Amino acid sequence: MLANYGYSDGSGNYFITIDTDKCNACGACVEACPAQIFQVVDEDPNDPMNEEPLTIVVPEKKKKLKYECGLCKPSGDDRPALPCVAACEPCAISHSW
Ligand code: SF4
Ligand code: SF4
Repeated sequence: MLANYGYSDGSGNYFITIDTDKCNACGACVEACPAQIFQVVDEDPNDPMNEEPLTIVVPEKKKKLKYECGLCKPSGDDRPALPCVAACEPCAISHSW
């Protein structure tokens, strides 16, 4: 399942998507993220049928992603891989912007 966390406003769409079928709860994104966006939980709060551990976006961060992720997203053409995306070996994380 694709779990989308974030919001839209007049300036754009700011969502992080976690593919819960790919996430293995390794915690690498938690370690890599300088803004403490991710949290490993024991079961999926969005899917009562999924009792496997996985990562979610911390609820208090969901409405702040544009700003919290700002340091990782320099403007211009130089766009290195985001730390969270680079850390996730199963490629479970994507960003909408
Ligand atoms: S790095 Fe990827 S696989 Fe590991 S906990 Fe984060 S989202 Fe899940
Ligand atoms: S872009 Fe940076 S701040 Fe945003 S979730 Fe990824 S590692 Fe964390």
